[in-house]
Amino acid sequence: MNFADFHRHSIDAPEQFWQEESKLIDWNTPFSQVLDYSRPPFAKWFVNGRTNLCHNAVDRWAASAGQRAALIAISTETNTEKTYSFTELQAEVERCAAVMLALGVGRGDRVLIYMPMIAEAAFAMLACARIGAIHSVVFGGFAANSLASRIDDAKPVLVVAADAGSRNGKAIPYKLLLDEAIELSTAKPAKVLLVDRGLAPMALVAGRDVDYATLRARHMDARVPVTWLESNEASYILYTSGTTGKPKGVQRDVGGYAVALAASMKYNFCGKPGETFFATSDIGWVVGHSYIVYGPLIAGMATIMYEGLPTCPDAGIWWSIVEKYRVARMFSAPTAIRVLRKQPPEFMRKYELSSLQALYLAGEPLDETTSQWIAAELGVPVIDNYWQTETGWPILSIAKGIEDKATRLGSPGVAMYGYKVKLLNESSGAECGANEKGVLVIDGPLPPGCMQTVYGDDARFVDTYWSTFSGMQVYSTFDWGVRDADGYYFILGRTDDVINVAGHRLGTREIEESISSHANVSEVAVVGVEDKLKGQVAVAFAILKHAQQAATPEGRLALERDIMGVVDHQLGAVARPARVYFVAQLPKTRSGKLLRRSIQAVCEGRSPGDLSAIDDPASLQQIKSALDA
Ligand code: ATP
Ligand code: MG
Repeated sequence: MNFADFHRHSIDAPEQFWQEESKLIDWNTPFSQVLDYSRPPFAKWFVNGRTNLCHNAVDRWAASAGQRAALIAISTETNTEKTYSFTELQAEVERCAAVMLALGVGRGDRVLIYMPMIAEAAFAMLACARIGAIHSVVFGGFAANSLASRIDDAKPVLVVAADAGSRNGKAIPYKLLLDEAIELSTAKPAKVLLVDRGLAPMALVAGRDVDYATLRARHMDARVPVTWLESNEASYILYTSGTTGKPKGVQRDVGGYAVALAASMKYNFCGKPGETFFATSDIGWVVGHSYIVYGPLIAGMATIMYEGLPTCPDAGIWWSIVEKYRVARMFSAPTAIRVLRKQPPEFMRKYELSSLQALYLAGEPLDETTSQWIAAELGVPVIDNYWQTETGWPILSIAKGIEDKATRLGSPGVAMYGYKVKLLNESSGAECGANEKGVLVIDGPLPPGCMQTVYGDDARFVDTYWSTFSGMQVYSTFDWGVRDADGYYFILGRTDDVINVAGHRLGTREIEESISSHANVSEVAVVGVEDKLKGQVAVAFAILKHAQQAATPEGRLALERDIMGVVDHQLGAVARPARVYFVAQLPKTRSGKLLRRSIQAVCEGRSPGDLSAIDDPASLQQIKSALDA
C-alpha cells in the first residue's frame, strides 16, 4: 500500500483505523468504544476493553513459542551473558510478581525501579505490568537529589534497586545513592527490594530492605495470574530527559500503548516473531521502555539488554553482538554513532553482519555526515525517527513496512499514521506553507500510545502542552521545524533554542549542521547569547577531530575564521557565529542530548539551572574555561 493513503485513512477515519490495528494484540474483554474525546485534550482509547501488557509481551508467546529466545541479557561489565526463553521469562516475571504481591504491592500502586541494565530490571517492569502496579523507572546512577524528587513525585510503595551499577569496570553504588535519596525524600517507600550483584557492599535497613534472591527462592513455582486492566488505567510513569528544564512525569495507559507499539513494530521496525532486536538505549529512557522491553516482546521478537559501553572491550562490541545473535534490527542514537566514528573502522568490519537489515536512530538530530558514514559502513538503510518521551513511539519517520519510500538526508521523514502534524507560525498561529519555519504541533487527539497526562497534575498537562496557541486544540512538541513540498520534515532545534539575530529567526540546528560539515569538526553546540546591538548572536562550541590544529592561538583563529566562512557560504552572514570556541567535551544529559540551555546560561553569566540530568559536570567547566581563555 502507498503510505500517503495509509496515513490519510488514519487521519480521516481514526476509529476505523485503530479498530483494525487493535487486532494486533490480545484483549481479554473487547472495548465498547474506540475513542472517547469528550473531554479534550484528554483522550481515552479502547474504552472498557481489558488487556495486559505483560500478557501480550510474554504469556502470549510463551503459550505458542515458549522455547524461543525472549530476553538476552549481556553485560561486558560483569562478563555475563544469559538468554531467557519466553517460558523462562514468564517464570521469572511470575516469581518477581509474587514477591511484589507478598510485599504488599497492589493494583495502581507505584513501584520505583532504580536499576542497572540487568535482566531483573525487565522482570520487575513486566511484573508490575502483570499485577497492574504502575512502574516508574528512574535512570540508574542518577544522583540522590534527582532520585529523591522522583520518589516524592511518584510516592512509591516499593523501590526495586540493586547494590550497584557498573560503568567501565567501576562499580557505582546504587544502594548508597538510594539510601541518601530516601533520606532526602518526604514520601518514604515502605519496602526496598534489592538485587545483590556482589559489586558493592550493601547494608540492609531492618524492616524496610529485603533481598530479592531470598524472596525469589520462596516463590520458585509461583503462578500469578495476569490482572486484566481497563485500557485507560495507567501502566507507567516516565520522566522526560530534562534537556530543556525540570523533567515532566509522563503517564501512559495500557491498551493504547500496547496497540501503538504493536503497530510500530509492524510498520516501522518490521520485526518478525523469532527475529532479534537490539536497542542500545537504557531502560531509564523511553526508547528502553518502548523498544528494549515492550515493543520487541509484543512482536514476539528476542530483545537484547546490553550493559556496557559501546567501546569496551573495544569499539567492535556491538557488532560482535549483532553477529553472534543474528540481530535483524538495531536501534541507537546519533550521539553513540558519533562516538564510534572516532574509532578505527576496522572494529566493525571484523564481523559478519549479514543478519542486519536496518539501523534506526533517534533522540537528536541526525547530521548528514554521521548518517552517510554509518550507512556506508553497515550497508543497510539508516532510518531516522523523531519522537518524544511524551509520544512513546515515532511521530516522524519512514514506515518501510508500508511503502519503501526513500529517506531524505537531514530529515527524520514524514508524519506517521495517527499523527496529525502541523507547523504553526509562532506569533500568528497560522499554518505554515512549504519551506516556512514554524512550531511542530500535533492536532488533538493524540493517537494511542501517547501520554495520558502529567502524573498527578492534569493542569500541568494542559498548561504545558496544549496552551501555546490559544483557542486551538493542539499539542506543542516545542520543536521548531520546516516541511518541504513532498511532506518531509526537518527539525531545526528546540523552540527555546531559536536564535533571534537582528530580527532573523534561526534554528540552532541549522547552524550546527552547517558547522558539522567542516572537515575538522566532529561535534558542535550552538547557542544564542544576549547581545546589546543585535538582540542575540550565535556562539559555537566545537569538538575537533584533530585538536592539534587549535593548539596555538594562531591556529585557533585560522580555524575559527574557516568555520565562519563555511556558515557564511551555506546560510549567509546573518547566521555566522560571533565566536567559535574549541572544547574537548560538550555538556550532555545522561541520555546523550546537548544541554544548550546550560551552555547558554554560562555564556550569559547566569546559573546553569536544573542539572539533575547532566552526565558529566566537568563539561560545563570546560565551557567556562573556554570563555575565560
Ligand atoms: P525535556 O522535555 O525534559 O526537556 P527532552 O525533550 O530531551 O527533555 P526526550 O523526550 O527524551 O526529552 O526527547 C525528545 C526530544 O528529542 C524531541 O522533542 C526533539 O527535540 C529531540 N529529538 C528526538 N528525536 C529526534 C530526531 N530524530 N531528530 C531531531 N530531534 C530529535
Ligand atoms: Mg521534551
